[in-house]
Amino acid sequence: MSVQEKIETLRNELREHNYNYYVLDKPTVSDFEFDMRLKELQALEEEHPEFFDETSPTLRVGGAVTKNFETVTHESRMYSLDNSYSKEDLDDWEKRIQRILGDVPVAFTCELKYDGASINLTYEEGKLVRAVTRGDGFQGDDVTTNIKTIKSVPLQLKGDYPAKFDIRGEIILTLEGFAKMNQERLANGEEAYMNPRNTASGSLKLQDSTLVAQRPLECLLYSIVGKDLNFESQFEMLEKARQWGFKVPTVAKLCKTTEEVMRFVEAWDLKRHELPYETDGVVVKVNSLRYQEELGYTAKAPRWAMAYKFKAEQVLTVLNEITYQVGRTGAITPVANLEPVLLAGTTVKRASLHNADQIAKLDIREGDTVFVEKGGEIIPKIIAVDFTKRPRDSKPTIYRTHCPECGTELIRKAGEAQHFCPNDMGCPPQITGRIQHFISRKAMDIEGLGGETVELLFKEGLIRNYADLYLLTKEQIMPLERMAEKSAENLVKGVEASKAIPYERVLFGLGIRYVGETVAKKLAKAYKNIDALMMATEEGLVAVDEIGERIAQSVVQFFGDGTNQEIITRLKSYGLQFSLSEAQLKNQSDTLKGKTFVVSGVFETLGRTELKKLIEDNGGKVASSISSKTSYLVAGDKMGPSKRTKAENLGVPIISENEFLAMV
Ligand code: AMP
Ligand code: ZN
Repeated sequence: MSVQEKIETLRNELREHNYNYYVLDKPTVSDFEFDMRLKELQALEEEHPEFFDETSPTLRVGGAVTKNFETVTHESRMYSLDNSYSKEDLDDWEKRIQRILGDVPVAFTCELKYDGASINLTYEEGKLVRAVTRGDGFQGDDVTTNIKTIKSVPLQLKGDYPAKFDIRGEIILTLEGFAKMNQERLANGEEAYMNPRNTASGSLKLQDSTLVAQRPLECLLYSIVGKDLNFESQFEMLEKARQWGFKVPTVAKLCKTTEEVMRFVEAWDLKRHELPYETDGVVVKVNSLRYQEELGYTAKAPRWAMAYKFKAEQVLTVLNEITYQVGRTGAITPVANLEPVLLAGTTVKRASLHNADQIAKLDIREGDTVFVEKGGEIIPKIIAVDFTKRPRDSKPTIYRTHCPECGTELIRKAGEAQHFCPNDMGCPPQITGRIQHFISRKAMDIEGLGGETVELLFKEGLIRNYADLYLLTKEQIMPLERMAEKSAENLVKGVEASKAIPYERVLFGLGIRYVGETVAKKLAKAYKNIDALMMATEEGLVAVDEIGERIAQSVVQFFGDGTNQEIITRLKSYGLQFSLSEAQLKNQSDTLKGKTFVVSGVFETLGRTELKKLIEDNGGKVASSISSKTSYLVAGDKMGPSKRTKAENLGVPIISENEFLAMV
């Protein structure tokens, strides 16, 4: 046997052992034997670097160090899931689905919802080429080096895998592995980690992959995305993934009705405590991939999937004090400061009380004993007061009348739940909050500048609004705490670079109340430069698709304000983008204005998403189900027959892809 053959044989053998041990949980050799083979392979590889292979099992031990995790844009977005908590929620969901699909039988795949950190793995020619965290769903961090150390992630696939695809899953720590890690930490005099989920997620961002390799992380897979995949249902997809060597829990079940789904949920609600890992619910998915495609996505989640959350754990603790936080818009949030208590693996010290009404509704008072609950949310909720434990001298809560930060009297507008501090130009957390929003990732994305630095710059009197950022000099910044020449330089560079950020993101960054990312995009499209937008009237704004009165009022008010006008004039003079670029303008038209389209079936030249984008870019609207308001049904191949009938009954014209393309 040649050296190369010897190396290949060892690699394959070790791959198989890894698979048996970590994916199937059925080891066939002893750890000692495994280590011997691994050492043998390591020695051979060292001697013969010419046979290097990026999928070799020796790479599992880590070694590489990542200083900066590169940001990578996901080829297809990673969505959240909508939540449901009851049979009724599920039935409502089924009805919504049926409305879109047109009363066809729909089967569901039920999987457990693994509670860890989501990951997107890209495979090309059967090799793992990239692993990226979910991040904000659009882009995440490249953590490939660390993921390669997780032994249940195959570096080399087997079987009839497609040439290129993405597969998604959850990186978790088993409860046993987590407990072991903590024992070791305590033995070393270190502090214990709080819960498996945060620890798993934190592990992905460790710089030294050797440390990651030592953690008992696992990767459980649930979804494949790609073109030309040879399966037609979610259930089949899971089976394929298993065949290619992925770890896909076998508890998944195919259900024909929501009743069956409920039985699955109820069974696992009881059995979940026997699982080796944490789960916070069940994910129910429409089984047919064609139906999934037809159902598509909302802005946040797939319409074809639904998380069913297990009832959260509750604990009792004492409410020590109610304090008040001021947000960037001046909104006041009352916060419950609790006697620290362990809940679902984390120590809880604070909970949001939302607003004055909530406090009144719960009749919650300082000194009360309260029920605290934690769903999947990060911030726990207070559900109720245990009145039997109320101290005799307790007094009703009187909501704060003045701003805790600047002392201004709080106001509450009719019909609004929140109190506000109206001193928007003089209240410190509002000033810094606006600047922090301006520099945030989805707005101006200013590198080298973080939230704390903003506070510091404000405290030092160097900035009072976001326009001031553009006048900062290296010399001003360097003497500040924790700043050095390099960081000051980076900050100034980051500010300078932000001048290229496109118009719609600048609009979002301005921090106009109710103008989120999506609304900012709509506004930029309708008012192609800031001058036009500044002159817009409420009537004009409301005429824009999806802009309501509340937003219109807020926009007019913002630009009517003298200080804001001044700031914008300054920003313009510094060279920020205040109009759509040539390229953006070129791809847009009003050709389809006032027309509503429903898109259904499979298309030849365009993907569905592209088609929808084309409609929107040309001023049209996309709807998910046919109604009398639909202008056209764009019909592709394999469109559901009920849709066709519905369109015909309502007299909605049915057009082909080519007919549509001729329109734009
Ligand atoms: P959430 O972040 O609560 O909206 O839930 C969405 C996340 O659940 C996804 O990003 C996945 O990472 C995670 N998840 C866990 N298990 C599953 C599963 N079986 N199917 C789909 N998503 C899952
Ligand atoms: Zn204030």
